[in-house]
Amino acid sequence: MGLLKGKQILVMGVANKRSIAWGCAQVMQKLGATVIYTYQNERMKKSVSKLVKDDELLIECDVSDDQNIEKAFDQVLQKFGKIDGIVHAIAFANRDELQGEIMNTSREGYQLAQDISAYSLIAVARYGKKILKDPASIVTLTYMGSSRAIPNYNVMGVAKAALEANVRYLARDMGKYGIRVNAISAGAMKTLAVTGVANHSDLLKESQRRTVDQQSVTLDEIGGACAFLMSDLSTGIVGDVIYVDKGVHLI
Ligand code: NAD
Repeated sequence: MGLLKGKQILVMGVANKRSIAWGCAQVMQKLGATVIYTYQNERMKKSVSKLVKDDELLIECDVSDDQNIEKAFDQVLQKFGKIDGIVHAIAFANRDELQGEIMNTSREGYQLAQDISAYSLIAVARYGKKILKDPASIVTLTYMGSSRAIPNYNVMGVAKAALEANVRYLARDMGKYGIRVNAISAGAMKTLAVTGVANHSDLLKESQRRTVDQQSVTLDEIGGACAFLMSDLSTGIVGDVIYVDKGVHLI
C-alpha cells in the first residue's frame, strides 16, 4: 500500500469527482502520495474545494498562459519544495469543433485545441523541470482518437496525435534530467470534457460495447495505471502510450 509513500505529486485537471485527474489523485493518495492540485480558474475552484478541503493544496493555473504556469509552479516550489511527479489531465476544444465534418474546423478553433490540449504539455514540462526531482515522472492523458477517426472527435483527435508526439519528444529530451514522460490512453468515460463532443452518449455506449467484457474502464483502473507510472516500478517505461481502455483499441 505504500507504493508512493513520501512522494509529492501535482495533479492538474480536476474539475469534479468524475474527472480522470480526480481518479488518479484518489488512487495515488491511497498509495501514500501527497497530492497537490491545480485548478483552472475561480469557477473551478468552487467545485474542487468541495473535494479538497485543505486550501494549502490548491493552486490556480490556467495553462493557456505561460506566466500563469510559471507562477503556479513557483508557488508549488515555495510551499512544497521539489516534487516527484506531475499529472497533466487537461484538454479543451470549442463545442463547434466537436461535431460534424472536420473540414468545417476554424483556424482559431484548431489553434485553441492544440494550444490547451497539446502545447500545454510542453509548457508544463518546461516549467515543471524547475520543480521536479531527479528522478521524476510526468503523465498525460490521451485518447485513441489520436490514431482513429472517431465520429465528432475531430480536432481533439488531431490535438491528441500532437500530444502523443510531444510525449515522445519530451521523453527524449528530459531523460537526461531524470524525468520520464508517458501517456495513458484512457477508455471513454462520462466526464465534463466528453459532454462537449456531439452525440457523446453514442460514443460512450459504443466504447463500452467494444470492451472485452462490455464493462467500461473505471476511474480506479486509470488511477492505478497512473500510480504505477508515477512509481519506481515503471522506471523502464519512457515516452510510451499505455492503453487503459479494457481492450477497446484492439477490436
Ligand atoms: P474533465 O472535464 O473532468 O477535465 C478536463 C480538465 O481540463 C478540467 O479540469 C478543466 O478545468 C481543465 N482545463 C481546460 N482548459 C484548461 C486551461 N486553459 N487551463 C487549465 N486547465 C484547463 O474531463 P476528463 O475527461 O477528466 O479530461 C481529462 C483528460 O483526459 C483530458 O486530456 C481528456 O482529453 C482525457 N481523456 C478523457 C477521456 C474521457 O473519455 N473522458 C478519455 C481519454 C482521455
